[in-house]
Amino acid sequence: MPEDNDTLICHRCHTLVRVGRGELYRVRISAVCDPQVRELEDMDAVRIAGEIRRLIEQASAMSERELREQISTELELILCTPCYRQWIENPAGA
Ligand SMILES: [Zn+2]
Repeated sequence: MPEDNDTLICHRCHTLVRVGRGELYRVRISAVCDPQVRELEDMDAVRIAGEIRRLIEQASAMSERELREQISTELELILCTPCYRQWIENPAGA
């Protein structure tokens, strides 16, 4: 059965769940990288130039997607009710 607007697939167990019947949970995850605030004021001009060069080299070696994901990632999981109950007991999965 194909996925349509009324039917979604649980991302954990791949069972089909119907929208509007209390069979599913939408879990929205927002992961934001710890902002690294660098104290440039304390550096001299040579060290600041070196730091900028290092950051540009680091960024140019990464894809656009990697750069975006390094800053933040938003995703939505669809979970059926049994999977949600298991997941919410241990969301970090440790
Ligand atoms: Zn499930």
